[in-house]
Amino acid sequence: MELKYTRKNVYKEADGKELEKIYEFAEGYKAFLDKSKTERGASAEACRLAEENGFKPFSFNEKLKAGDKRYFLNRGKNIFLIRVGTEDVAKDGIRIMVAHVDSPRLDLKPNPMYEEAGLCYFKTHYYGGIKKYQWTALPLALHGVVMLRGGEKKEICVGEDDNDPIFYITDLLPHLAQEQSQKTLGKAIDGESLNAVIGGLPSVDDEEEKESVKAAVLKLLNKKYGITEIDFQCSELCFVPAGRARDVGFDGALISAYGHDDKVCAYPEMRAVFDCDSPHTVLAVFADKEEVGSDGTTGMQSKVISDVIETIAASFKANPIEVRYNSKCISADVTAGYDPMFGSAFEKRNTTFISCGAAVSKYTGARGKSSTNDASAEYMGFIRDIFEDNGVIWQTGELGAVDIGGGGTVAKFISNLGIDTVDVGVPVLSMHAPYELISKADVYSLYKACVAFCK
Ligand code: MN
Ligand code: MN
Repeated sequence: MELKYTRKNVYKEADGKELEKIYEFAEGYKAFLDKSKTERGASAEACRLAEENGFKPFSFNEKLKAGDKRYFLNRGKNIFLIRVGTEDVAKDGIRIMVAHVDSPRLDLKPNPMYEEAGLCYFKTHYYGGIKKYQWTALPLALHGVVMLRGGEKKEICVGEDDNDPIFYITDLLPHLAQEQSQKTLGKAIDGESLNAVIGGLPSVDDEEEKESVKAAVLKLLNKKYGITEIDFQCSELCFVPAGRARDVGFDGALISAYGHDDKVCAYPEMRAVFDCDSPHTVLAVFADKEEVGSDGTTGMQSKVISDVIETIAASFKANPIEVRYNSKCISADVTAGYDPMFGSAFEKRNTTFISCGAAVSKYTGARGKSSTNDASAEYMGFIRDIFEDNGVIWQTGELGAVDIGGGGTVAKFISNLGIDTVDVGVPVLSMHAPYELISKADVYSLYKACVAFCK
């Protein structure tokens, strides 16, 4: 019997075969990430993969039976994957896993377009917690939808293909940045200067026109998408970092990409639902709006998850209250991995380390554990037994040192429904930066954790 606890490194524990599996899993994850720059992209890709895996569209009116596989796409931005098991759903509850698929980015303002000094710009309004200075001088892609008058929807994706142009927010040259350099990081670039260059070619037809670059860009947009300027008021467009997920390091042990938070948890959760053949009823959720508080029709504070649970319960004439109280949940979200470059922000004995496996956070919150789900000792014990019985390498930690800051996840919204919940995720370095860093070992460990939880 081991008396002392020591954290394990997944790579150190892995034999050649396991290492192969870790690297192979990462390939699938990177391919998913590249199609999942926004919650719409991730939900659409999840739908496609669900259908490939035999899942059929869900209806609130249907009577589900054991063995059914369903997906429910909520308004294109939030998806529920349901796998009905053979156990009595009233007594056994539902095994629920929730990750979010929205990530920090720059949304367009309702009136985004203007011209100044020979350049045309889109004005942005940042979404989620960003360090604004990180979003300048960086290739950006534009993603989203525009509604034309009469209900036609145009999907836009520019900047991801190698032949596409990208978009660009300028920064001040160091030669003239003496004053800017004296400012704090938070003030060096302000929100109203996050305007992206979208054109520079004046229209030749309208020599009289004052804003001739803007006029020319509008002509291009109208030709390609049928858009007029007022249509931006009925759109959801955003800038995200352009480019693909890439291996990091000579050994390729790590992955750098936009939006690991929280697709690095959504992907293993989804794969676990596809791969498991379990007697339990399993529900996997890709949530939207986590980065801005989980409100609205597609966020986890919405009643939609209860409606899905009630529909499952009704199928078996089970009491939905009993189903909820017997359900269990993993809130799959990232946490801050220990970064030796910024060691003082962490408390080394109680933080998660890169490549040391699935990261379990009993609680999140800020300061005195403010605003958090705090998983019970009993539920932590249940999770530990499941992981250890199934060879899952896991670790536990807090998000940074006490008094330094804090954060939250959707865990509290699920546990507020009376469902035992704990945060299990992946440690991330440079979280919320345009390109974040994770370890292939950790995303694979989370996959094994999700499979163990479902089975
Ligand atoms: Mn997150
Ligand atoms: Mn986040």
